[in-house]
Amino acid sequence: MSAIEPTRAAPAEPDALPWEYAPAPESRDIVTIAPEYGLFIDGEFRPAAGGATFATVNPASEERLAEVAEAGPADVDAAVAAARRAYDRIWGPMPGAERAKYLYRIARVLQERAREFAVLESLDNGKPIRESRDVDIPLAAAHFFYHAGWADKLEYAGFGPDPRPLGVAGQVIPWNFPLLMAAWKLAPALAAGNTCVLKPAETTPLTALLLAEVCQQIGLPAGVVNVLTGAGETGAALVGHPDVDKVAFTGSTEVGKQIAEAAAGTRKKLTLELGGKAANIVFDDAPVEQAIEGIVNGIFFNQGHVCCAGSRLLVQESVADIVVERLQRRLTTLRLGDPLDKNTDIGAINSRQQLDKINELSAAGDAEGARRWSPPCPLPERGYWFPPTLFTGVSQSYRIAREEIFGPVLSVLTFRTPEEAVAKANNTPYGLSAGIWTDKGSRILWMAQRMRAGVVWANTYNRFDPASPFGGYQESGFGREGGRHGLEAYLDV
Ligand code: NAP
Ligand code: MG
Repeated sequence: MSAIEPTRAAPAEPDALPWEYAPAPESRDIVTIAPEYGLFIDGEFRPAAGGATFATVNPASEERLAEVAEAGPADVDAAVAAARRAYDRIWGPMPGAERAKYLYRIARVLQERAREFAVLESLDNGKPIRESRDVDIPLAAAHFFYHAGWADKLEYAGFGPDPRPLGVAGQVIPWNFPLLMAAWKLAPALAAGNTCVLKPAETTPLTALLLAEVCQQIGLPAGVVNVLTGAGETGAALVGHPDVDKVAFTGSTEVGKQIAEAAAGTRKKLTLELGGKAANIVFDDAPVEQAIEGIVNGIFFNQGHVCCAGSRLLVQESVADIVVERLQRRLTTLRLGDPLDKNTDIGAINSRQQLDKINELSAAGDAEGARRWSPPCPLPERGYWFPPTLFTGVSQSYRIAREEIFGPVLSVLTFRTPEEAVAKANNTPYGLSAGIWTDKGSRILWMAQRMRAGVVWANTYNRFDPASPFGGYQESGFGREGGRHGLEAYLDV
């Protein structure tokens, strides 16, 4: 049980901010949202065969943005058949150097149209424009650039002289980084010579559909990329389709297990990127101000809707009071509100359903005896919002220390020795990521060797690079995305 209390009540007025920011909204006119969107199959947009549609909303306002086609089994058949034709006749036989040209074109158009993509992402997802503009869209472009570079060099990737693609990839992605997850899936698959059928999340289909328009714009051969919007049933139909050779899924551990069961006993190759409950570990010799920024970035970036979020702060007992106090002061300066405002730090929670989950787990934290703290933070009346929240007095058995909240909620625990930090950090069924904050390089290496986590950050957090493999252990899934390891998942090696 942690000894720490929030030692000083947060200032009633955010005294750290002596000024008010004027509104600085990004213009939403840069993007044109159509009233309706079809499925992208064989290079064309078309309505679902059964005519079904669903609405996607702006979670910051609950405004309906567009009506989107909902793919049924006939549409899944059509998309997989289109991808198969494109694989057999065009994309599979095409020399890597030619495939690379298409990937470079996609990357360049993502850069050219970056503002449009960023605004659309923030509208559909609720994330601050500062993040969609500076993280999601540039990283998505970087993934296409990086993998374009591999397309004609696969024989040098260490997988033998002539590594072959797998065929048709069925790819299902979540709503937290909609365009970026699409890029993580499509870029390596295409570079390796596969064709794709992508299912974006129900609440965030719009940037994947804009990416489909980019595929048309750059003249990508029909059927190489297909986008099927829909809900979980569409995803299940896609990953269960008998003519899909490779399944790639990012999402919850629960759905990941169902997909693993469905794929077992088939010839399909499978990679799963699932949930996490990462420890962000702060030692007493860490540079405190830097660590505070890293803690904030670790859990409040993207409203905490991050699989590798540093949702458990493990802080050495001797510095716990000062770290918590400074963290509270820092949190009072965070600005929550309109995602399109360039000064916003915390945007909207992506959906009512996710907000309910965050509320439920936070209430469990209260009931189990943890102490909840949030800065003074008025929430907008419409839309889905949750203030940045700290729980202190958290014990390892509490649900908020074990379960993925996927929201802006940090559980603070303490430790005394490095051995105890390792034991507590690894005390989770997940194993996606971890953070270590210390002045000593030897301690970083000692800790990193003992962390059961796919990614370990040292004196930084939530850093991503297309050259760096990302993925988990245990219930965080298997397989890697990014780098040479990520290519392997799309090659017959
Ligand atoms: P989710 O419910 O598992 O959904 C992920 C995707 O799967 C969505 O497109 C979803 O469609 C679809 N889906 C739902 N049921 C399906 C089924 N039975 N068969 C096939 N597809 C199905 O997860 P989420 O709530 O959207 O995302 C949050 C979770 O994703 C968190 O647990 C988070 O940790 C994890 N995540 C992991 C990573 C990683 O790289 N490891 C990255 C991001 C997120 P609908 O949207 O229509 O439900
Ligand atoms: Mg939406």
